Amino acid sequence: MTASRVLVLNSGSSSVKYQLLDMADRSRLAVGLVERIGEETSRLVHEPLATGGDRREQLGPIADHEAALKAVAAELAADGLGLDSPELAAVGHRVVHGGTRFTAPTVIDDEVLAEIRSLVPLAPLHNPANVTGIEVARALRADIPQVAVFDTAFHATMADHVAQYAIDAEVAERFSVRRYGFHGTSHAYVSRATARLLGKAPEEVNVIVLHLGNGASASAVRGGVCVDTSMGLTPLEGLVMGTRSGDLDPAVIFHLARVGGMSVDEIDSLLNKKSGLLGMCGDNDMREVLRRAGEGDEAAGRAFATYVHRLKKYIGAYTAVLGRVDAVVFTAGVGENAAPVREAAVAGLEELGLALDHRANAERSGEPRLISPEYARVAVAVVPTDEELEIAAQAYELVTR
Ligand code: ADP
Repeated sequence: MTASRVLVLNSGSSSVKYQLLDMADRSRLAVGLVERIGEETSRLVHEPLATGGDRREQLGPIADHEAALKAVAAELAADGLGLDSPELAAVGHRVVHGGTRFTAPTVIDDEVLAEIRSLVPLAPLHNPANVTGIEVARALRADIPQVAVFDTAFHATMADHVAQYAIDAEVAERFSVRRYGFHGTSHAYVSRATARLLGKAPEEVNVIVLHLGNGASASAVRGGVCVDTSMGLTPLEGLVMGTRSGDLDPAVIFHLARVGGMSVDEIDSLLNKKSGLLGMCGDNDMREVLRRAGEGDEAAGRAFATYVHRLKKYIGAYTAVLGRVDAVVFTAGVGENAAPVREAAVAGLEELGLALDHRANAERSGEPRLISPEYARVAVAVVPTDEELEIAAQAYELVTR
């Protein structure tokens, strides 16, 4: 019997999301989440999919990531899926920033871990938690490969002239300032799945992927290779997001510092956590924005319009970048569920070859599907993303190669 299970860990600063998958049939054995780590009100939610049992919830303090992972291990053991099992082939870790060094999934050793740690200045909100998750999992199962799968990796194929910012080259080099891009695991998975939906090989199709979750990013993928993406040095650039501003004149920052008297940290927090939909109308959840806009709420309506306007601009820009577009695909929480966003983003783009089948767009489904009429030159699709499956697949492929 070959080991075919992969545990996928997505460690945030105060949370750990996990999934245990069996790569023999790509099935999910268990999924869960530990949140509010380090607080009195920590919560673990565990769904034992393999046993078909009820979802279990644990409330009460979980002090740190080590305690969190031990609690997860105990839940899995209770399902007969303990992490000490010889069937566990690898642990796959989502790592947000891989810098220019990591362009593919990588088995983690001391040197790799040190390198991921050295990238903390580029991703201060994310990489520290990723490092902690790796340390804890390594201590638990030092005998099996721990694999890092980087959010930036898929975008490493961007040409230098696309990745560079038009600033002093020496300063850029000294401080590693360039565009890296994020959500790469999702863009990779969704662009491939879209090719499959069109009945083509990834090499044959050009796709614009719109990953619209709480964070949001667009990418232009030519023949399976990423040529441009909307996020940059950090996940702040590009589309309007739940709480992030996306694109803005960098001088806004100087203005807020000089005239508004705000500190760098205050502006950082403003643009990352209190902007986007939340900043414009007080709600970051698209469901609420749509509901309020539907009731005539002006701020919500305007926030929706700004969100959609930015999306349209990126569809246009990436059409120009790609030259020929075979499909525009919507994914993640908003992209998969919010028909009005898709409707508004595509409206008026007939000249670019885009059109919608309004009935298909309004239908709810968890399956990859086309929502454009047959005559449309550019297909419009909805393809649910599955970052955990993609991380597990990449990790498994690496350790069984
Ligand atoms: P994350 O970036 O946290 O992984 P998701 O991809 O899960 O985010 O997307 C979360 C967002 O999806 C929510 O903030 C919400 O705005 C949006 N969303 C989820 N369901 C719907 C829906 N039915 N209609 C509109 N928006 C939705």
